[in-house]
Amino acid sequence: MKKIQMVDLKGQYNKIKEEVDQSVLEVLDSTAYINGPKVHEFQNNLEKYLGVKHVIPCANGTDALQIAMMGLGLKPGDEVITADFTFAATVEVIALLNLTPVLVDVDPVTFNIDVEAVKNAITPKTKAIVPVHLFGMCANMEALMDIAQTNNLFVIEDNAQGIGATYTYTDGRKAKAGTIGHIASTSFFPSKNLGCYGDGGAIFTNDDDLAHTIRGVVNHGMYVRYHHDVVGVNSRLDSIQATILNIKLKHLDNYNQARQNAARAYNTAFANEEYIITPSGKSECLGICSSCDCHVFHQYTLRVLKGDRDALVKHLNDKGIPCGVYYPIPLHRQKAYLDSRYNEADFKVTNQLVKEVISLPMHTELDDDQIEFITSTVKNFVNS
Ligand SMILES: *Cc1c(COP(=O)(O)O)cnc(C)c1O
Repeated sequence: MKKIQMVDLKGQYNKIKEEVDQSVLEVLDSTAYINGPKVHEFQNNLEKYLGVKHVIPCANGTDALQIAMMGLGLKPGDEVITADFTFAATVEVIALLNLTPVLVDVDPVTFNIDVEAVKNAITPKTKAIVPVHLFGMCANMEALMDIAQTNNLFVIEDNAQGIGATYTYTDGRKAKAGTIGHIASTSFFPSKNLGCYGDGGAIFTNDDDLAHTIRGVVNHGMYVRYHHDVVGVNSRLDSIQATILNIKLKHLDNYNQARQNAARAYNTAFANEEYIITPSGKSECLGICSSCDCHVFHQYTLRVLKGDRDALVKHLNDKGIPCGVYYPIPLHRQKAYLDSRYNEADFKVTNQLVKEVISLPMHTELDDDQIEFITSTVKNFVNS
């Protein structure tokens, strides 16, 4: 059996190595390292793939979130509601811009922002909601867009983990994650579902005016060379990353299917386990039925009952199986984001999840033997 890795970047690279190497050498030879034709080509290809009017590439997913908030013109003191159970980048940029983060609890089944908690957190100062499509599973966008419309709020999708996922509305309409809110951000960090070989990110929107504003924000606030109309940042995707992303974008659906297949095999193996809760999407499809793509499994995350999670982590590591705990501490309890207005009773789900979650190896190169070894090792442990 191949050595099990949390993410197998090398195995995936080997399959596209010739094409990637050749295209990188072409960029080197062209010397168009920044804002070259490859960046525009990627931007166009991603717009087509997502079915969104504007993709604005930038340097990374954290910048993408910050730039989205700058583009919306949010002002110090404006409140932005986001999930307590996510990567810190989401809350970090809110705080950096002197906006006020308002963290709320998540749904125990999807791990995504709890719609009722969002409603309860709205005040006259609330200006935006940032749902995160956590672990690759679409948040409840339809309900969130309704709340946003009623309360005149912006919705910024943090799509760093959900690229390629498809959201299905109750009337059957479909849209790609990241094209539903007013604006969205994504990351091309190497381990993401569409990862480059360095840092990269992008902002998506269907709003022409907002896209125009953002194209200036990413470029020092310039709309005309050396005329700085707004305070901007310097955030660029380089041509080497863009040419790699162009190649990998052609494989994105296959990559996501490979992840879904692995998730299905894991779910099947754990189906009768009393002490394990497997990830599920909508109740009728578990997120991985053949007709629904609402979950692209950036992570495959179990809940381990009986209080055994940390012992399981150690057991798996001892057997040569890497695993992760995303995330071990809720954001509302992080030193940088403490706020005396928070009440522990409002974070029941996150406080529980941080004790129970474990993410198993998930990538495009997992094979049946590896999955069998991982699942049997987990099962032996929880039943011993
Ligand atoms: C990875 C990630 C980011 C940040 O992306 P970077 O490219 O690393 O800056 C933001 N939000 C979420 C949910 C992420 O998973």
